[in-house]
Amino acid sequence: MSRYRLMMLGPPGAGKGTQAKRLADRLDIPHVSTGDMLREARRKESELGKKAAQFMEAGKLVPDEVVIGIVRERLEEDDAADGFILDGFPRTRPQAEALAEMGVDLDFVINIEVADEEVVSRLGGRLSCPNCGAVYHKEAKPPKEDDVCDVCGHRGLITRDDDRPEAIRQRLDSYHQKTSPLIEFYSERDVLENVDGAGSPDEVNDAIARRLNGD
Ligand code: AMP
Repeated sequence: MSRYRLMMLGPPGAGKGTQAKRLADRLDIPHVSTGDMLREARRKESELGKKAAQFMEAGKLVPDEVVIGIVRERLEEDDAADGFILDGFPRTRPQAEALAEMGVDLDFVINIEVADEEVVSRLGGRLSCPNCGAVYHKEAKPPKEDDVCDVCGHRGLITRDDDRPEAIRQRLDSYHQKTSPLIEFYSERDVLENVDGAGSPDEVNDAIARRLNGD
C-alpha cells in the first residue's frame, strides 16, 4: 500500500483532528498532532509542557522553535519513516519552511474550509475527555451517558481552557494572521486540496477520500 505524507490545514474546530484520526486508521500511518503532544506534555508537567501552557491557555500559538523541535523528533521515529498525517502543524510560514528543510515533501495538504461563525459555535459547545482526548459537543454530539466518556469511561468531561470565548477569538485571530497564508504557500506547490467542512464527519471523510483517489 502506498504511504502518504499528509497534512491537515484549516481553522480551529474545522474537524482536522477527527478526520486525521480516521485517515490515520484507514491508511495505517501515524497521526502526528502537535496539539495532542503539547497537551500531553502539559499533563505530565514536563519542561516543554510548562513552556507551552501559558500560550495554550490564552489561545496563542506556542513559539515556532518549540513546536518545530517536537515535530522534528517525532518524525525521526521509525513508524513515521514512510508516511504520516500532520494535524495542527505547520501553523506558520517559518514552521512550513522548517518542515521543507527537514526534507519532508507533502503529497497532499487537505484544507478543511469552515466559516468563522461555525467555528465559534462548534468550539463553544465542545467537551473533551481529559483522560483519552475524545471530543464531544453539548448539542451536536453529546456522550451517551451525561458527563461520561463513551470511549474510556472516564467521568468528568471538560471544556478545554482554549475553548473559552476569549481564547476562541484569539485562536481565530492567530489562524487568520499566521496560518491562513499557508493556503497560498501550498497552493503554489500544487499539493492543496480544498474540502468543504460544513457537512457531517462522514460527508467530510468521503470528500477527502475522493480527493485522495484523484476523483
Ligand atoms: P490544537 O489542538 O491543534 O487546536 O492545538 C491546541 C493549542 O496548541 C493551540 O491553540 C496552540 O496554543 C498550540 N499549538 C498546537 N500546534 C501548534 C503549532 N503548530 N504552532 C504553535 N502552537 C501550536
